Amino acid sequence: MPDTLNIAKLGFQKTLKNKVFCEGVGLHTGNNTQIKILPADVNSGITFIREDLNKDRKIVASYKNVCDTKLGTTIENNAGHKVHTIEHLMSAFMGLRIDNADVILSGSEVPIMDGSAKVFLDLISSAGIKEQFAKKKVIKVLKEVSFSQNNSSIIAVPSDNFSIDYMIDFDDPAIGVQRQKITLLANTFDEEIGSARTFGMLNEVEYMHQNGLALGGSINNAIVVDNGKILNPEGLRFKDEFVRHKILDLCGDIYLSGFHIIGSIVAKCAGHEVNNKFLWELFSDKSNYEVIEENNIITQEEISFAVA
Ligand SMILES: [Zn+2]
Repeated sequence: MPDTLNIAKLGFQKTLKNKVFCEGVGLHTGNNTQIKILPADVNSGITFIREDLNKDRKIVASYKNVCDTKLGTTIENNAGHKVHTIEHLMSAFMGLRIDNADVILSGSEVPIMDGSAKVFLDLISSAGIKEQFAKKKVIKVLKEVSFSQNNSSIIAVPSDNFSIDYMIDFDDPAIGVQRQKITLLANTFDEEIGSARTFGMLNEVEYMHQNGLALGGSINNAIVVDNGKILNPEGLRFKDEFVRHKILDLCGDIYLSGFHIIGSIVAKCAGHEVNNKFLWELFSDKSNYEVIEENNIITQEEISFAVA
């Protein structure tokens, strides 16, 4: 049975069984950062906590807190404190159906690791995942919702599953036109999307480095493309790794909704900015969606039913 249907019927919120730790360089800042991912209470969602700050350390993972989308997705709290490049970790949370977690950072950026969500997926899986006694927060798309800007677009339509059909079109022949459709059921995220790496063109990477941007970016954490050639000696992990990474980014960005989404999404040449604007469009009209189980603390009878 597709597990999205289980989510709609009787899905429990999930968190980690144990805390996990990793460290690495930030793509944006070039700084080394340590992160700890800790279990969190029901209905608390995903919270980033900057332990390098004395106060106003919490930054809630919400689309409303997105303040910059240029080199990745950055969120900010009311005090102006930021966390950069949250999208791959958010994507791992979405892919593993983690509802609640606290992410403690020693600095202002989530480490880029290998450029995909693979390290985060492996770490969280190795810590174990536990179900909590509250129903998952799920929204169902009720009618077509779309956002478009220049050549980019995202359209969501009602469906019984969560699927993404994504198309990209790059001038460089090493990428070109790629299209991938994935219905996100149990394990498909980890196997088909989670290890797809971010990418950049050599001339853009050189330009950014000269201008003090993407200081942590290298061939160790991104696919680098130059006029039809892949410069990474190990080559690609998937023939269409580029479009798969765009799906990974979209999953992470739309998980800033705070909900698992039931609906079918068609995206074309989108990016972090369009992903965020799509969520504002979705939530701009309450008739676009239905929240399933708004009052979601489970009663004693439901616990015995669920355990039976
Ligand atoms: Zn990415």
